[in-house]
Amino acid sequence: MELLKFNNLSYRDQVSHFVTTRHGGVSVGEFTSLNLGFNVGDKYKNVERNYEILAGELGILPSDFVIAKQTHSNNVIVVEKNKKRGYPTVPGTVLEDTDAMVTAVGGICLMVRTADCVPLLLFDPCRKVVAAVHAGWRGTVKNVAGKTLKVMHERFGTRPQDIEAGIGPSAGPCCYEVGEEVREAVMKMPVAGERVITSGASRGRYYFDMRSANRQTLLSAGVNPDGIEVINRCTICESGNFFSVRAAKGRTGRMGAGILLDF
Ligand SMILES: [Zn+2]
Repeated sequence: MELLKFNNLSYRDQVSHFVTTRHGGVSVGEFTSLNLGFNVGDKYKNVERNYEILAGELGILPSDFVIAKQTHSNNVIVVEKNKKRGYPTVPGTVLEDTDAMVTAVGGICLMVRTADCVPLLLFDPCRKVVAAVHAGWRGTVKNVAGKTLKVMHERFGTRPQDIEAGIGPSAGPCCYEVGEEVREAVMKMPVAGERVITSGASRGRYYFDMRSANRQTLLSAGVNPDGIEVINRCTICESGNFFSVRAAKGRTGRMGAGILLDF
């Protein structure tokens, strides 16, 4: 199985992480092959098997994954010990209505699922806290990444300058065309503005650099430039390697980006 890694997080002790591609699973057709999305039209059994394969690769149990029903919100949940922890295939144990998860508990893998949206993984090596964030354009303009840092600070005393962050593959500025509604929302962002949005192929169309916008968000919150690593690969350009809702025009699988503290 091909798992992508961030160098800055790989160098650190006490934390493991990964970003999946679409390779290495058992799903077929438009879900080929490592689909981690349960509600996208794939066979349930295959998705379940994909979780088992991924867990085996990571040396953890499927029950160690904590996932969320992502809603393009900026809701952040702190995952406590033994609370709301459960097998992702059991309905009701998936965290509801949240796009960012934070924990200081070792041995549980916070994982966001994406197919064009931006996955962010955060690690505070001083306070031993991790977070996984899902940021599509809505989450990005709602500052879900900044809000996650705020929760880490309030709850655990995390200082932004200590953070090591990874920003994973997403729809890139080469392909991610958006309309006026998105441009207006982006221009209202305190940090990003015109640096992350450029004119598109036709009138009223724009290209939005979501990875850069999230990087700017982290920087403006006080994260060091050296602490942020970006995998600048576009899910639409590379739809053979990544799931992309845009490239597939809808029906497709989901990749996972996960992080866990050692016990
Ligand atoms: Zn592209």
